[in-house]
Amino acid sequence: MITFNVPPYTGKEMEYIRECVENQKICGDGPYTQKCNQWIEDRTHTAKCLLTTSCTHATEMAALLAGIREGDEVIMPSYTFVSTADAFVLRGATPVFVDIRPDTMNIDENLIEAAVTDRTRAIVPVHYAGVSCEMDKIMELAGKYRLAVIEDAAQGILSSYKGKALGTFGEYGCFSFHETKNFSMGEGGALLIRDRENIEDAEIIREKGTNRSKYYRGQIDKYTWINYGSSYLPSDMNAAYLYAQLEMAEEITAARMACWERYYENLYPLAQAGLIELPTVPEGCVHNAHMFYIKAKEIEERTALINWLKERDVHSVFHYIPLHTAPAGLKFGRFHGEDRYTTRESERLLRLPMFYRLTLEQVDYICRQVKGFYMGDR
Ligand SMILES: *Cc1c(COP(=O)(O)O)cnc(C)c1O
Repeated sequence: MITFNVPPYTGKEMEYIRECVENQKICGDGPYTQKCNQWIEDRTHTAKCLLTTSCTHATEMAALLAGIREGDEVIMPSYTFVSTADAFVLRGATPVFVDIRPDTMNIDENLIEAAVTDRTRAIVPVHYAGVSCEMDKIMELAGKYRLAVIEDAAQGILSSYKGKALGTFGEYGCFSFHETKNFSMGEGGALLIRDRENIEDAEIIREKGTNRSKYYRGQIDKYTWINYGSSYLPSDMNAAYLYAQLEMAEEITAARMACWERYYENLYPLAQAGLIELPTVPEGCVHNAHMFYIKAKEIEERTALINWLKERDVHSVFHYIPLHTAPAGLKFGRFHGEDRYTTRESERLLRLPMFYRLTLEQVDYICRQVKGFYMGDR
């Protein structure tokens, strides 16, 4: 069976974790956490990166830092993971869902302005499949209406828009290092902070509302309770696992990209024949080969294709159920405007296996099976 995902593993992980154990440095903000933060800061040119226990927690921190409160509205796509909305619902805010563009599955930047009310406080672009949203337009709107921008860049590490790293456009950017992402620590994430003046508040919220980070750096001689906060620090053992991946980021990305390109090439004839659709990467966007998806005609065809592939030992999966149609989405959020593409496109989308160490031969095999479904006699 070719599984949909295999967590990334480079070979150095055990050595680094053993080092944590032997040096008795296993709690948060240890040497490996610092190395990961530094690596991400160097690569993205953000003012500050703080490793967190998940992307969900990074988004919760961003919601706290942005001062999101009861009654506020936050604009986001409905085609996203639950965490994008959860972080704001926990603050008592209302997610206002806006339709997506069918080509990238990202929020339609041209529909955002009409959803702005006097309660709107933030826009949360989600960079689906590591392909950027139209950040020029989104930043322009945020400036015009004085809204915070919090990027859900869970899938977007090392992707860019017009040469600038995803996660660094908004006040806050959130990465995920869940085992399904390009680089992993099992469960984990990172908060990227664009403006220096917000770093101290972020460190306090992440350390249970205390200034312990300052204390650790020797800037004060005892630490104390300063503000509200929670515990968003991962163990240094998790960071050690992640660091082994970051060191190999080039190789991992290149290998994923080779698979992505091979899928695209192999399946292009089916797209040309009008049988499927392939992903679009707009001008100015550099992606990280986080995902390879195709679109079937509609949900019945997609279900048949999933089963066809399963019978041929290929595990393919669909993705998000639009949040506005889910019980919690109905309760906590609202959809602004018409759902022209969110539901329809989500029902057509099928993700094919994509992970570090997936071989080109496996990609060729998978593509032959997809071609067999559309061209062979079923
Ligand atoms: C993976 C993912 C998340 C959640 O990440 P965790 O690290 O598991 O909390 C949030 N948003 C999107 C778009 C994701 O893909």
